[in-house]
Amino acid sequence: MTGGETGPSPRLLIVGPPGAGKGTQATQIAETLGVPAISTGDIFRANVRDETELGVKVKTIMDAGDYVPDSLTNELVSDRLDQSDAAQGFLLDGYPRTLQQVGFLDDYLSGKGQALEAVILLVADRDEIVERLRKRALDQGRSDDTEDAIRHRQDVYLRETAPLLESYRSRGLVVEVDGLGTIEQVAERIDAALGERGFRSTAAAS
Ligand code: AMP
Repeated sequence: MTGGETGPSPRLLIVGPPGAGKGTQATQIAETLGVPAISTGDIFRANVRDETELGVKVKTIMDAGDYVPDSLTNELVSDRLDQSDAAQGFLLDGYPRTLQQVGFLDDYLSGKGQALEAVILLVADRDEIVERLRKRALDQGRSDDTEDAIRHRQDVYLRETAPLLESYRSRGLVVEVDGLGTIEQVAERIDAALGERGFRSTAAAS
């Protein structure tokens, strides 16, 4: 294996239901591919914690579980993607969440002569995920996290991602991966699926 051969620049998104371990997978895949994992939720939370101007603006919105306005979110993402570590690729997690954001990201990338390469979709049976999360809530003593609430979040996810996925599917970008199993199993499946698309790990071959 020749060093530094990474195939196409990995400009990727990861989409998956709440509770499918998406954040963990995102960090791992990004590391393997040698690109930054960019989670809008994490960036917003860090701003709230540090009480930045942006954090103060978005705190109430986030506390209510609503979406931060597209304009603010798009600006945050384009600023982040402008940073040098994202020049050779990135893995976005939690963005885009609206069709307006999908359009913004397309325009942003095409302005740089770039495009998304793939959308990793973690697929998991809704009932199994609900059961898993219900058990976890019980184990952690989070009795407020009721089955109804968990189910509701799954339904919201399915409803809200459907139009985005339709847009990406019509462009042949969606790579479906079975999201049930251990972290290692899912990571291996993602790795294999990306490998088929020509994305090679930058991790040193031992
Ligand atoms: P997450 O950790 O991805 O669930 O994001 C936590 C919160 O951050 C969400 O509930 C929203 O308030 C905000 N957020 C994250 N990503 C976006 C986005 N793409 N568009 C709008 N709001 C977002």
